[in-house]
Amino acid sequence: MQSSYDAVIIGSGLGGLAAGVTLARGGYKTLVVEKRDRVGGRCSSYDYEGFKLTTGAAAIHYSGWVPRIMKEAGVKAEFREIPRVFYRIAGNEYELASKGRLGMLLDVLEKTEVNRAAMTGRIVREVAANKVLGSLKQAIGGQEKTGLFTFRDWLLQYTDNDLVHEVFDQICAAVVEAHSWELPAAQFFLFMAKSGGVRDVSLFPGANLPVMQGLAHVIKTSGDVWLNSPVKKIVITKRAATGVVVEKDGNDVEVPCKVVISNIGPRETVPLVGKENLDEDYLRELRVKLRPSPVMLTFIASDRPLWRTEPGTMLTIIGGRRVTLMIPLTNTCPELAPPGQHLIYAAGKPLSCLLPMDVEYERQQNLLDIKEMLPDFEKHGRILKMEPHNITDEFPEARTWNGYEVPMETPVPNLFNAGDPVKSQGLAGTSGSTESGVRAAELAKKRLKG
Ligand SMILES: Cc1cc2nc3c(=O)[nH]c(=O)nc-3n(C[C@H](O)[C@H](O)[C@H](O)COP(=O)(O)OP(=O)(O)OC[C@H]3O[C@@H](n4cnc5c(N)ncnc54)[C@H](O)[C@@H]3O)c2cc1C
Repeated sequence: MQSSYDAVIIGSGLGGLAAGVTLARGGYKTLVVEKRDRVGGRCSSYDYEGFKLTTGAAAIHYSGWVPRIMKEAGVKAEFREIPRVFYRIAGNEYELASKGRLGMLLDVLEKTEVNRAAMTGRIVREVAANKVLGSLKQAIGGQEKTGLFTFRDWLLQYTDNDLVHEVFDQICAAVVEAHSWELPAAQFFLFMAKSGGVRDVSLFPGANLPVMQGLAHVIKTSGDVWLNSPVKKIVITKRAATGVVVEKDGNDVEVPCKVVISNIGPRETVPLVGKENLDEDYLRELRVKLRPSPVMLTFIASDRPLWRTEPGTMLTIIGGRRVTLMIPLTNTCPELAPPGQHLIYAAGKPLSCLLPMDVEYERQQNLLDIKEMLPDFEKHGRILKMEPHNITDEFPEARTWNGYEVPMETPVPNLFNAGDPVKSQGLAGTSGSTESGVRAAELAKKRLKG
């Protein structure tokens, strides 16, 4: 007979591990069940041709919820910061301080446009930096009704300069996970009001997996973590969750428990529960709200640095085809590549965050950007790996755009969700997933006490 647990957590992403640590530290007997051969989900890492590659997240927020849960678990790891952000705009690079960055960016654009006008003799469209900044401040302060406007519509009221639109589209896609022409303006302002933007970027020099294993280790002190064990079913008795069926060592085993936390995504949890156990309002909310966000992730290897050499630097690209961000990982963490080799992480957004991407076309567009931005690429570099993370894939960049989160509670008593689609608004990525796990564990604790 399989022993029973207070809580079973399906999936060992950051949300699952954070929930597990919180419950285990509270003395609850907790089991984390993971279908893959390693913990961490989209924030893990693996060895590949001598490099250490991330399964998704590279830039970890060093002041957010990730360090908080690490502290709770007693996991020590260095956060190596990336404080220097460069912007490539119309072929030139500018390093911009984090404080007042937007104002500086708009100044750069004004100068760029004056030069463009002088060189081409063309009339360029006004940047209107002051108007844009002033209106943005008001809107973030909640003093504007934006109605049905997308962010792009809102910005068009003040400027139709293409570079300004590209700057803001880059920000929308990076922080809110959707393009400026897709995102309701109100969601952008709400996110900015709650988060104040996202600036605290760092890397784990030993890659992500050891940190995730550290979190898993703490859970094992008050329960267990099973790898290679897909959950096939959530057991419902008298309408409430009372266990899971897991495939373990080739056999289906039923594990009884008092609370189930699913970290695999609310939509992906539905087939495990069975639609017949969920009400139509809940299913409708999942259908309407959840909007996964895609990304093309490229790992570029080289026998010499292809962009700068200083540690703590990254590049934001304005006006490329697809690639908006490059982090030369080994400038900051040489440990991530074999000796004499270098590694860049490049992220490219397809033009739609609503429709599935055409993977082959996107590969070509990303490659064209990479060749254009890294002049030594063809001589000294190679594509180590190019990974599409489509909206229909298991590991999209986000399971929903910011502002499109769904509730952590489900219509099934004793069943909760954790992970990025149920995080609190204003948080992003790894920080948001971790926060959701802690909050799901607090809800579970209340249920366990009651
Ligand atoms: C390409 C990419 C780049 C990103 N870059 C960043 C970044 O730089 N910074 C940042 O902060 N965030 C980034 N993110 C987002 C960040 O990785 C995620 O928000 C976060 O890691 C998601 O955690 P989660 O808790 O939602 O769980 P997930 O990571 O989604 O984990 C879910 C886990 O459940 C397991 N699972 C699924 N089905 C089952 C089953 N039936 N039984 C058992 N286990 C199951 C999966 O194997 C997986 O381990 C990126 C994501 C991607 C994909």
